[in-house]
Amino acid sequence: MAPPPDHCPTLVLNADFRPLSYFPLSLWSWQEAVKAVFLDRVNIISEYDRVVRSPTFEIKLPSVISLKEFIPATRRPAFTRFNVFLRDRFTCQYCGHHFPTQELTFDHVIPRSRGGRTTWDNVVTSCSACNLAKGNWLPHSCGMIPLSPPFQPSAYQLQENGRAFPPNFLHESWRDFLYWDTELDPM
Ligand SMILES: [Zn+2]
Repeated sequence: MAPPPDHCPTLVLNADFRPLSYFPLSLWSWQEAVKAVFLDRVNIISEYDRVVRSPTFEIKLPSVISLKEFIPATRRPAFTRFNVFLRDRFTCQYCGHHFPTQELTFDHVIPRSRGGRTTWDNVVTSCSACNLAKGNWLPHSCGMIPLSPPFQPSAYQLQENGRAFPPNFLHESWRDFLYWDTELDPM
């Protein structure tokens, strides 16, 4: 049986056939994808076995589309919590454990109370317990030194880190464009 349209997200590739983003994976709803097809902004690369019909047209839902116009990656990724977590691969930089986003926070390596700034090179991903333990200490006075020194990542570095996180749903037609160098278990 064909899946309902709402379970048919479209993988969006840039004009170079690489995903616009790996994590979160660049997906559009079928409505957005069909609209872009009609506006002639995208090429359909692959389709679901699912047709939607209106009185005037019918179309197979696209499973993969590529933009006709290349969108260059922003050179400097935005300084956001999410991007800090992505840079640090969702790993607490003190205890080295992996956590879901909602259990992570960020920590000022040099505490703000001691003049530390909220910048790429002074903020690391931390679990709540480590964040609490570190408090207002300087790294060397409490022996809590980040596993990797914080740095300003490039868009490329964030993309590469994002590739390590497979999506929950993976349509077979997406495989050629994701993780081409990795074996995946069928879902
Ligand atoms: Zn921790």
